[in-house]
Amino acid sequence: MSDHQFVEMSAVQIAAGVRSGAFSAVEVVSAHLSQIANHEGEVRSFVTQMGDRALAGAKAVDEKRARGEELGALAGVPVALKDNMAYRGVETTCSSKILKGWIPPYTATVIERLESAGAIAIGKTNLDEFAMGSSTENSAFSPTRNPIDLSRVPGGSSGGSAASVAARFAPIAIGSDTGGSIRQPASLCGIVGVKPTYGLVSRYGLIAFASSLDQIGPFARSVEDSSLVLDVISGHDDRDSTSLSSKSYSHQPLNGEVKGLRIGVITEMLDGLSPDVERALNQAIESLRALGAIVEEVSVPAAKFGLTAYYLIAPAEASSNLARFDGVRYGVRVEGKDMNETYELTRGQGFGPEVKRRIMLGTYALSAGYYDALYGKAQKVRTLIANDFDAAYGRFDALISATSPTVAFEFDSKSDPLSMYMSDVCTIPSNLAGHPAMSVPFAGDEDGLPIGIQVLAPSFGEGVMFKVAAALEAAADYRPVPQWASTGK
Ligand code: GLN
Repeated sequence: MSDHQFVEMSAVQIAAGVRSGAFSAVEVVSAHLSQIANHEGEVRSFVTQMGDRALAGAKAVDEKRARGEELGALAGVPVALKDNMAYRGVETTCSSKILKGWIPPYTATVIERLESAGAIAIGKTNLDEFAMGSSTENSAFSPTRNPIDLSRVPGGSSGGSAASVAARFAPIAIGSDTGGSIRQPASLCGIVGVKPTYGLVSRYGLIAFASSLDQIGPFARSVEDSSLVLDVISGHDDRDSTSLSSKSYSHQPLNGEVKGLRIGVITEMLDGLSPDVERALNQAIESLRALGAIVEEVSVPAAKFGLTAYYLIAPAEASSNLARFDGVRYGVRVEGKDMNETYELTRGQGFGPEVKRRIMLGTYALSAGYYDALYGKAQKVRTLIANDFDAAYGRFDALISATSPTVAFEFDSKSDPLSMYMSDVCTIPSNLAGHPAMSVPFAGDEDGLPIGIQVLAPSFGEGVMFKVAAALEAAADYRPVPQWASTGK
């Protein structure tokens, strides 16, 4: 088997081959490491590469097989990990200067679960600093490039994870989604990205951005792989008090059967789409109808206030979560003449401009005299959004929209914060409601840039969500390839 064949394989195919002995985990990992060596210079999806550990991990899987032991569902499958998840002994930075050099003494639960299923961590991926952004341009280290078109952003904040899967550095990756950070980069890179129901996946070891919104989820190049990974990482964890006690997701074979399903198209998410995105959404609607689904428009009225409510709630929580980065307990410390000056210098030099903007916004929204008018009001809007979704789910099994209003944009093209924030207008409402939602690649624009469709479902509706996504995946006749493959470079 050639390196090319290995890097094009799905996680399901890799695990089956490693388990049956058709090939070894070392062969699989080596092929992905050469893909990284060949193309990481152009893409820059990693903050830290873990090649040596990955080869050792692969060897351990192969030895386990040789001893006749049972191998897990992800045996020998390389996985890329967003660098806001702790991995014992490996630098974890959140792509921030303030955490440079921080080596966590513990490992995130999701990573432990992936590794016990046989997955092999191959690197920590780049993100917008502390997951704040939609392009990966806010990384303190360097932006990541979109493998499908290297002159464009991969989206964000999990841009490095999305790019690593699109670039065939790994068949699967893990990201976090607070307002769209898995789904939007998945859409822009032409891959699948899933934000599960809040509480389904443990957040232990995830460096918190906005704790009531953050959720960890998978990236993959197929709906089936993303469903399998969610199965592996979901389920209760005593170490995360928000993880649900009796809920986990179990992967089922997906047949894309949507006949008779009622699918709503969210009215409030139809405005402001680029013409190509609008065309793709209409095609998706037609495809679902052709498969026998009942597709109608449905209003989720409060969804239009999602962005505004999010930019009060998320910064408010961030301002409190990021207070711990003070030069005393973690990472970088810039010494001043007294304690206060040390705080000021450390935080002043350690945080980038977007993080500072969020901390200031959040501190303001929580301050005496403004708390009720800003933070309190936003919380009420959040309840309205959840209620409006519940009403829609009274009539529909699942909802759809575009994932992102546009395809991947060029670097430095959204310099004012508001235009960047608008990238998440379709993804934010499900974070506020706590519901699952995912992006599935569906079409290309006239230049071949990927367009994703978002499938949304009520809490614990992952089953129906994957079903609709699988139907769209089967109906799509679009398979994005990295720029170097399409130009034969
Ligand atoms: N782009 C949004 C933000 O900057 C969402 C980020 C995320 O989901 N982590 O807040």
